[in-house]
Amino acid sequence: MQRIKNIEIIMKILKKEMGRFQNPVATEISKTTRSPYMVLISCLLSLRTNDKITGPISKKLFEIVKTPHGILVRKYGGKVPDDFNKLMEFKGVGRKTANIVMTYGFFKKDYIAVDTHVNRIPNRLGWIKTKKPEDTEEQLKKILPKKYWQDFNDLIVTFGQNICRPIGPKCWECPVNKYCDYYKKVYIPSQKQETVAIKFLDPNTLK
Ligand code: SF4
Repeated sequence: MQRIKNIEIIMKILKKEMGRFQNPVATEISKTTRSPYMVLISCLLSLRTNDKITGPISKKLFEIVKTPHGILVRKYGGKVPDDFNKLMEFKGVGRKTANIVMTYGFFKKDYIAVDTHVNRIPNRLGWIKTKKPEDTEEQLKKILPKKYWQDFNDLIVTFGQNICRPIGPKCWECPVNKYCDYYKKVYIPSQKQETVAIKFLDPNTLK
């Protein structure tokens, strides 16, 4: 019960705080184009690169290829299928991409896309204990109220790129640190050790 209460609080804080950062590429493309095809292509590009590069490359690519001819024409009549399982049949498309296209291409509310940030952050917060993205997706669907599913990837990716980074999370300035397991169990103890080490090395403390 307390965990659910904390999830509600954390989601509210993150929604408010993450507005000052730039949107992840998939969200930006979804908002500006409202095209499942563009979201799909940018996701496939992002598998081989990072957001800083995916954005500009996607824009250049879309100037050349604006419609889904080629890969989709024969089988789906030129349309990206509005179907998770059919998307998974595409070469290079896994659960993450299919979930992103369903969520940010078709604006569906029944999917949670798990990438590296969504896999890592709920584990750090102590909501779940998983390693594999498919387990994270399954566990999140059990504990996260459905009203948060649609925005979850967007919000957590923004948080993961700017604050709860994979290496060197900015725990000291994190707006949800008081609800975080990692903060209590890893960050605070590491700071205490550092303080002891500084005291030990400081010549003034040896006088
Ligand atoms: S306190 Fe640190 S580990 Fe926890 S959510 Fe914030 S940045 Fe991530």
